[in-house]
Amino acid sequence: MIHIDGSLGEGGGQVLRTALGLSAATGQPFRIDRIRAQRSRPGLQRQHLAAVLAAAEVCGARVDGAALGSASVTFRPGTARAGDYRFAIGSAGSTTLVLQTVLPPLLTAAGDSTVALSGGTHNPMAPPSDFLQLAFAPLLRRMGARLDLQLLRHGFAPGGGGTLAARIAPPSPWRPLDLRERDRAGLLRARALLAALPEHVGRRELDTLLQRLGRDLLSPEMTHIESVDADGPGNALVVELPAAAATEVVTAVGERGLRAEAVAGRAADEILAFVRADVPVGAHLQDQLLIPIALAGGGAFRTVAPTPHMTTNAQIVERFLPVRFRFAEDRPASWLVTAAAP
Ligand code: ATP
Repeated sequence: MIHIDGSLGEGGGQVLRTALGLSAATGQPFRIDRIRAQRSRPGLQRQHLAAVLAAAEVCGARVDGAALGSASVTFRPGTARAGDYRFAIGSAGSTTLVLQTVLPPLLTAAGDSTVALSGGTHNPMAPPSDFLQLAFAPLLRRMGARLDLQLLRHGFAPGGGGTLAARIAPPSPWRPLDLRERDRAGLLRARALLAALPEHVGRRELDTLLQRLGRDLLSPEMTHIESVDADGPGNALVVELPAAAATEVVTAVGERGLRAEAVAGRAADEILAFVRADVPVGAHLQDQLLIPIALAGGGAFRTVAPTPHMTTNAQIVERFLPVRFRFAEDRPASWLVTAAAP
């Protein structure tokens, strides 16, 4: 039985999700204590409980401690099974984080799967569906696997009600990822998504973004206000940064009480840091690539400074899979991440 300290490093939901996904994929049981100890409301919240139950369903696990607020879970997996799954996260809990939890077992199962998820699709502190679709899925494809996504309805917090449909095909075989240069960068594209909010919110976000990035990076013709249907008001600023190697997606999600200019400012800061570093992998993609790279048996990518999410995730992945990650700042502000057998 693998023992995980949920307060490790970042000490958030990702420690739990990574352990769930890799336990379900490898068949190794684990116990986690001090779940999300570093968060203001620790323990299993709705979305984390949904992740536990989803992982258990996919691999027929026996679970102790699966209750709201629980600080400890024991997870004894069976065998991951391909199939047609449906997970309702409840409220606006993140559909993408639950999808990422069941991805490792479904990528190692025998056969293709479909997963229908309902909840939030554009949540703060989680990958928006656009990010999985445009940045993450194409890299998975390069590693030999397939993740096809369809956003059927947007879901914002607190209204939720979004729907995301996924088709997952395991690799045959895995191919290591090598992603070291961000060459032949294309034109940036920015979309301000608005659900039941006045158009000036999107206009102000795009104006701020244009001003901060300058004409060299973003031209007005490549910006767009997109009205979307959702169960309640919502806003996200989604910026695509294409390059030959990979597309990065930077997102800032609007929140009640947060000015449109501040939303765009967050996105601009992240974009400028990424463009200056001239690397193919940004601050969010870096932690999310570790699991597929480890499943594929190795790989390398260049990225911005390691986030606590990535360094923490590396430690959890190493507990389940025969892999060692190394991080080296071998150019100014540019880090090479490598994964290989220990
Ligand atoms: P907690 O519930 O403990 O507050 P959490 O469950 O939201 O935390 P975290 O441990 O904070 O989970 O992990 C959030 C994940 O979402 C990380 O993989 C992070 O890289 C990813 N993420 C957050 N924001 C974005 C974004 N704008 N674009 C892409 N990915 C993101």
